[in-house]
Amino acid sequence: MSIDTMDAAVTRAWMERFFAAFDREEQALTALDRQTGDGDFGANLRSALGRARTALRGADAATPGDVLDVVSTAFLHTGGTSGPLFGMWFRQLAKATRTDTIGIAELSQGFTDATATVQRLGGAKPGDKTMVDAMVPAGQALESATGELTSALTAAATAARAGAEATAGLLARRGRASYVGEVARGVLDPGAVAVALLVESAAQTLTSSVQGSEVDRVGD
Ligand code: ADP
Ligand code: MG
Repeated sequence: MSIDTMDAAVTRAWMERFFAAFDREEQALTALDRQTGDGDFGANLRSALGRARTALRGADAATPGDVLDVVSTAFLHTGGTSGPLFGMWFRQLAKATRTDTIGIAELSQGFTDATATVQRLGGAKPGDKTMVDAMVPAGQALESATGELTSALTAAATAARAGAEATAGLLARRGRASYVGEVARGVLDPGAVAVALLVESAAQTLTSSVQGSEVDRVGD
């Protein structure tokens, strides 16, 4: 079976995978923010995702956008710079995904709009060593995708990870890391790494859905 669309259940499975990936990487993300910022990134993300996890359990979400709205609200109630920015990113993505099922077109539009919003609010451009450095290439990969959703998201995940890895070589021009100058060189941007985890989680969710019916088992 090949799934070429995402519905609310697949979107939930995507978020569950993201929560699990974050649980594995929290300490590493905190360490990155400690090297270039104030060390609260992992805690900020944990509080947002914890709230999202709980809220999703009780949520009656019929569309992918409904699921993403719940996640958005959880981020918007979170501190740090990343909380509101991720909150607005998910909110824009939700706006583009309010049909029962979504495909490449909706996801691509959603990623583009969501990243534009983050750039407008935060003022970061690609190359400024922020979450934008993973968001932009992921959106571009979706935009230029020609195959099915699974391969499109796999390409987006590869692009997001490459964008995150490339932040190591950059000097920060936005956020707290911009205060430390050369000290940030060689250190990955935690926001960009979190975006890579998010998009990788989407690709893995679809890949495992193709192989079996893992959507029903995620979260075990
Ligand atoms: P704070 O710096 O307020 O402690 P967090 O630790 O919650 O914020 O988040 C830090 C992350 O936020 C960075 O890794 C970076 O990806 C992202 N970030 C910071 N400033 C901006 C900005 N202006 N635009 C986009 N992303 C930003
Ligand atoms: Mg911080």
